[in-house]
Amino acid sequence: MELQKNDVVTLSIADITNDGNGVGRFDGIAVFVPGTAVGDVLRVRIVKVCKNYCYGIVEEILSPSPDRTEPHCPVYRQCGGCSLRHISYEAELAIKQGWVYENMRRIGKVEQAVFAPILPSPKEEGYRNKAQYPVAAGEDGGLKIGFFARRSHRIVDGGACALQPPVFAEIVETIRQLCQLYHIPAYDEASGKGLLRHIYLRSSQNAEKIMVCLVLKGPQLPHAQAFVEALTGKFPQIRSIVININPRSTNVILGRECRTLWGEDTIQDTLCGMEFSISPLSFYQVNREGAQVLYETARDFAGLQGTEVLLDLYCGAGTIGLSMAPYVKEVIGVEIIPDAVEDARKNARKNGISNARFLCADAAEAARTLREEGIVPDVVIIDPPRKGCSSGLIDTICAMHPQRVVMVSCNSATAARDCALFEQQGYQAMRVQPVDMFPRTTHVETVVLLGRKEADGEESSLPHETAGETVVHLPR
Ligand code: SAH
Repeated sequence: MELQKNDVVTLSIADITNDGNGVGRFDGIAVFVPGTAVGDVLRVRIVKVCKNYCYGIVEEILSPSPDRTEPHCPVYRQCGGCSLRHISYEAELAIKQGWVYENMRRIGKVEQAVFAPILPSPKEEGYRNKAQYPVAAGEDGGLKIGFFARRSHRIVDGGACALQPPVFAEIVETIRQLCQLYHIPAYDEASGKGLLRHIYLRSSQNAEKIMVCLVLKGPQLPHAQAFVEALTGKFPQIRSIVININPRSTNVILGRECRTLWGEDTIQDTLCGMEFSISPLSFYQVNREGAQVLYETARDFAGLQGTEVLLDLYCGAGTIGLSMAPYVKEVIGVEIIPDAVEDARKNARKNGISNARFLCADAAEAARTLREEGIVPDVVIIDPPRKGCSSGLIDTICAMHPQRVVMVSCNSATAARDCALFEQQGYQAMRVQPVDMFPRTTHVETVVLLGRKEADGEESSLPHETAGETVVHLPR
């Protein structure tokens, strides 16, 4: 039977895709249904018919999956953030572990490795230290400030989000009132007119310190002094108020220029027992407690003895490399964003670390230069953005012959692809560790240890202590 739009069919959900849709089959055709769980039996209305698959929405739950749980969020259905909020955290972890293992096996062709069970986030809610709220004109003359709806640029109004510190919503409401009072218009994407584009907030551990960044189309915030007095008067945790100027017609949130209106230029946080200063334009892990688990895993995989030269590629504000600096001979960090490199250097000084240096460059270019200079790293850490590494970078790393490469990735599909490229050049994925840093969402981190394949007579570059972990030899 050919499915048509508006048909209503009965489906059992058998799997969850990595964008968070449940999938069931009707007459062999895959039907993707958001907000569902493995084991659900549902009546589903078909809303879109494509060549070999369809999309549907739930009409009625006939028999709920045992994984289901109460989402406890008023905007869960509209908001594009928490696609997995309707299932238990245990079930979510199992699904994410499955995605990582599957990508490693299917895309990475990783057949034999220690596949460790996923590490959960220490916090399931309130774990985020960063939020970027889009702003638009509301129908009533006020401002709409909130989050983008699923797959759209429509704003779901309201700053309250269970993933963030509750004070963020209060700050957003105060800014909304100030904008109303002083007639600060929202930026309008279509016409390019208006001023306020985004409200960008960052917090330190337990939201003790907060940075407020207003992303504007132009350089001036009218009534800036009144904003500063109102915000700092009401929220003593605010240590810094910054304007980011983004004049471009683009959906990239931040412009390249920042100007501090009041207070500090950076936000301070502690991570892995060290102090870090972070500029508005620098990357910083959004889940501080989760990041500590991630970095500890990376350090364990790096197998450090104290004698190593460690290359930390895509180093951001230097956090991974600096947290490992006490355990190695030398750290060389590479990062493309100048403010982040400045932060990294400052962070080394702040923590009394003198065996780390940082280069501002593209990772592949810097690796090539370092190789030409004769630098021989023992361990290379790579923590690229979602698109993964360039093949040129992988070639250069392999040509440097490090003992170990530790890959940290927020996208297990590109990580797996990159593992396959390393495999072609004599490296083998030996340990795979999923780490959840983003409960309720579809995101998950992966750490992979790549070691040199053993040549005859050569000792393995693998650390030996793998006891206590589950070894999963994946089925073919
Ligand atoms: N390791 C850091 C940052 C990881 S995010 C941490 O854990 O905090 C990835 C970083 O790669 C970002 O800081 C981004 O600015 C940087 N980056 C993106 N493309 C790059 C490139 N081609 N070369 C070097 N760094 C790059």
